[in-house]
Amino acid sequence: MYTMRPSEFTFQRPGSLDEAVALLGDEARPLAGGHSLIPAMKLRLATPQTLVDLSGLPGLDGITRDGDVLRIGAMTTHATVAASGTVSESVPVLAETAALIGDRQVRRRGTIGGSCAHADPAADYPTVLVALDAAIAAAGPRGAREIPAREFFTGLFATALAPDELVTAVHVPIRAGVGAAYEKHKSPRSGYAVVGVAATFGGEVPPEIVVGGVTGSPLRATAAAAQVTGSDANTIAAAASAVADAIGDAAIGDTYASGEYRAHLATVLAGRAMTRAVQRAT
Ligand SMILES: Cc1cc2nc3c(=O)[nH]c(=O)nc-3n(C[C@H](O)[C@H](O)[C@H](O)COP(=O)(O)OP(=O)(O)OC[C@H]3O[C@@H](n4cnc5c(N)ncnc54)[C@H](O)[C@@H]3O)c2cc1C
Repeated sequence: MYTMRPSEFTFQRPGSLDEAVALLGDEARPLAGGHSLIPAMKLRLATPQTLVDLSGLPGLDGITRDGDVLRIGAMTTHATVAASGTVSESVPVLAETAALIGDRQVRRRGTIGGSCAHADPAADYPTVLVALDAAIAAAGPRGAREIPAREFFTGLFATALAPDELVTAVHVPIRAGVGAAYEKHKSPRSGYAVVGVAATFGGEVPPEIVVGGVTGSPLRATAAAAQVTGSDANTIAAAASAVADAIGDAAIGDTYASGEYRAHLATVLAGRAMTRAVQRAT
């Protein structure tokens, strides 16, 4: 049945992180920007009995640099990340990615914590956070923990977060010498990524190519990325083509783009992203 009214729920506004965590569970969902949860509730794809409002909770917002780690609070909006001088100076690709999300309204409401917890295969942050080897900070009744982004996104709209845990922040390593870039083909309807590819090159870490929007969760094309040794265009082109091998026949198709088209697009965007990443490496 199609409906635009959510099922009945109670609304809780906790005053502290501990209170919020105590309210969570199978039947309760945190509410951040509401840009994915509210539409899902209106379509009754989500029917939580309780909404736990995270707005105004101390400790969940703000962007700080602590040595070689950039910390972005879970409730930080995409607009704030896009406009942040701290992010632009330390991990520029993240500010660029935030600026590519949806439209102005979405960027002013949607949050980095909500985007990670929702784990939409067409979202932008997950792809980039996996490429950057970021960690998702979580808090729950068993305490706080950090989950590597590479283990956090476990499938289509699925994460390693327990139902009674909250994302509190995203921690991104600031790595000297690493160049990073993100290339996205936007859906003309929503702005979501039909395909998005993040690449990194340089520094003390191996090159990375991560593909979003093609499979259920961000896909690391590790063997393809390993072929890149520098700015030689032929090598980058060969690595980009090899991204198709990493995808295999796992590409998702829909009414906008077939799996085959998505897989091809991933190779094109991988070439562009890696070319820019190599140019940015110092
Ligand atoms: C028209 C439109 C276009 C969009 N385009 C893009 C795009 O181009 N790229 C892109 O990446 N995204 C896009 N989005 C998604 C948007 O960026 C939001 O970030 C995303 O919907 C989730 O963030 P939110 O803060 O709105 O979370 P909510 O909708 O409030 O929550 C989403 C889910 O995460 C859970 N949750 C929220 N916060 C936490 C937390 N701190 N801890 C644990 N669980 C939590 C909620 O319970 C819910 O299950 C678009 C959305 C719309 C409506």
